[in-house]
Amino acid sequence: MFTIIDLNYARCPLPFLSDDLVKKMTETIAIGKKCLLFFNRRGSARTLLCKDCGYQFMCDRCDLAMIVHTSPSRKLLCHHCSNESALPHGCPKCHGTNLNSIGFGIQKVEENLLKLFPEARIARIDSDKKRTEWLQFQEMSSAQILLSTELGNTLSIEWIDLVAFLLLESEIAVPEYDIEEKIYTNIIYNARKWSEICIQTFAPKSDLIRNITEGNYRDFLVHTLRERKSFSYPPYKELVHIWVRDTNQERIKDIIYKLRNKLELLKTPDIELYFDRELFTKRNNEYGQKIVLKGENLSPLLSTVKKEIFRNRWVSMERK
Ligand SMILES: [Zn+2]
Ligand SMILES: [Zn+2]
Repeated sequence: MFTIIDLNYARCPLPFLSDDLVKKMTETIAIGKKCLLFFNRRGSARTLLCKDCGYQFMCDRCDLAMIVHTSPSRKLLCHHCSNESALPHGCPKCHGTNLNSIGFGIQKVEENLLKLFPEARIARIDSDKKRTEWLQFQEMSSAQILLSTELGNTLSIEWIDLVAFLLLESEIAVPEYDIEEKIYTNIIYNARKWSEICIQTFAPKSDLIRNITEGNYRDFLVHTLRERKSFSYPPYKELVHIWVRDTNQERIKDIIYKLRNKLELLKTPDIELYFDRELFTKRNNEYGQKIVLKGENLSPLLSTVKKEIFRNRWVSMERK
C-alpha cells in the first residue's frame, strides 16, 4: 500500500517528519514492527555560510561545499575527498561570527527522531558510522527505527512494516541518467516485501509517482525509453566519458584539444561528440574535463584511440 504525502501542504513540526508519517511510525512501533526511513543526504547540515558576507566554506582541494557533520564528531567534511576540518567559530573573510548551517542532513533527522521517539531504539546506517558488519547487523536487528542514506543497504532486515522516503527529491537529485529507474525498481522491490510504503515529496503529481502508485511498469518503461531515445542514452546509444585529469589546466586543455581533433577526424557522422571547454571540475587538488561520446557502436572508434586513452596517465574512460 502506498501513501503519498505532499510536502507542500503537510504539517511538519520538524523538517521532513510530517504529522501523518509520525502517526504511522507510532502505530508501527506499537505493534512491535520496524520503520525504515530513507533520506539521501549525509551529514547534519548541507553547508556552512557566513550570514554577514556570504562566505561559503568550500573544500580547498575540490570545488565542492564542505558538509557540516555533528555525529560522531563535530566537523566539516568533504564528501568527495574526505578532507576535514574542525567546525569554525568565525568567518575567515570578514571575521564575523554569524555562521549559519544551511540545508538538512540525515544526522539532523536522527536528532529530531530522538525528540519525537525518546523511548525508541534508532539506528542510523550510513558510511559516516564506522561499524563492523556484525555490529551493524546487530544494531539494525534490534532497532525500531532504521535510518539510511542509501537505497539497498538495509534490504536484508526482517520485521519491517513501514518504509518511508522522507524526501523523494533527495534520491532523484543524483546526476545519473538512470536514477529514476533505480528509484522505481527499489520502491517496487520494497513494496513487494513490506506492507506499507510512504513517500514524501514536493511533486506528488509527477509521472514517476503516478507510475509507482499505479504499479504501472509498462507506462514507466515506455516513458523512460522515450526519454532515453530522445536524449540518445543507453540502451539506444552507447555513452562514454573520456576524462582528462591533472593539476595543470593548460596540460588538460592541450590533451583534450589533441584528443578531440583525432576523434573528430576518425568518427563516423552518427557519433556525437561534445565537451564544455570552460568547465573544469576540481577534485582532490586535480582539475578534470571530459569529452562525451554517444553513438550506436563506439568500439571501432575507441579502439583506434586506445593508445592515447590507456597509455596516457592523465586520461581515463568511463562507460556509462
Ligand atoms: Zn563573513
Ligand atoms: Zn574535497
